[in-house]
Amino acid sequence: MEHLLLDIQKYSIHNGEGIRTTIFFKGCPLKCKWCHNPESQSYRAEIMYNKEKCVSCMRCLMKCPQKGIVEKDGFYPVPRDKCDACATCVDFCIYGAREKAGRLYSVDEVIKEIEKDKMFYEQSNGGVTLSGGEVMTQDINFILQILKRCDRMGYNVNIDTCGYSSFERFEKILPYVDTFLYDIKHIDPDKHRLLTGKDNVLILDNLKKLNDKNGKIHIRIPVIEGVNSDDENINGIADFIKDMNITMVSLLPYHAIGQGKYDRIDMEYEGTDFSAPGEERMLEIKNIFERKNIPVKIGG
Ligand code: SF4
Ligand code: SF4
Repeated sequence: MEHLLLDIQKYSIHNGEGIRTTIFFKGCPLKCKWCHNPESQSYRAEIMYNKEKCVSCMRCLMKCPQKGIVEKDGFYPVPRDKCDACATCVDFCIYGAREKAGRLYSVDEVIKEIEKDKMFYEQSNGGVTLSGGEVMTQDINFILQILKRCDRMGYNVNIDTCGYSSFERFEKILPYVDTFLYDIKHIDPDKHRLLTGKDNVLILDNLKKLNDKNGKIHIRIPVIEGVNSDDENINGIADFIKDMNITMVSLLPYHAIGQGKYDRIDMEYEGTDFSAPGEERMLEIKNIFERKNIPVKIGG
């Protein structure tokens, strides 16, 4: 059994406690306007093209089996309508201007990568995080196999999720997961749809059900000035979770990391007006959660 992954990141420190190995799946049902990994949104492998590294040698154009690459304004963009991500052009581009996003991995390959760093998990109380894209919309049997093998080896496992999936899938993996890193982006369903392409009804419903089933939940909120940083939204989120057994809320100030990748996959970045709230406002937001006795911190 093989599955498309975007990346396996070693020594990862932003996806749960300690030093972790993070497995990034490819494909997500949401399209957040601030997404840091736009190349993780499509469920298919794709080619990224970095114009800044291209020296116009035309090797890619000559080698493409689809004969789809044509010169445009001195550059050699990926022919999205014809490209099957065969990666021939990647192999022939010695300047590193072309890169393939997405590769098939077997369960054994993933486990082998995970096991390489078991010493770090033990020393740092770390472990493994399955992330995305959106892990909960991927092949559940592949995920279960990884989780069961991590469980047998005693590794701590986090699932980083936007919550947009059927609850049956959460129920299947629940016995093998230590913590769910669960995103809440906005409490208002219409604003959520505007920001991500989907409303939040399923997401909030799953969160409630997960809490009822005693799932360990760490909430993560990307905080963007003037988008979701207002009192009404923050109070709405805090009131929604205040009676739940939440282990922590992480307030993650917006940053523009990833903006440069949009052009490489011919996507438009819609977050150019976004910014992070100032330090004072972040502390006020933190205070709103503290006043409701919700454990909270700024940062991951
Ligand atoms: S092979 Fe690489 S450097 Fe040459 S034209 Fe293609 S993308 Fe540019
Ligand atoms: S990945 Fe293959 S089909 Fe796509 S542009 Fe490169 S050589 Fe052509």
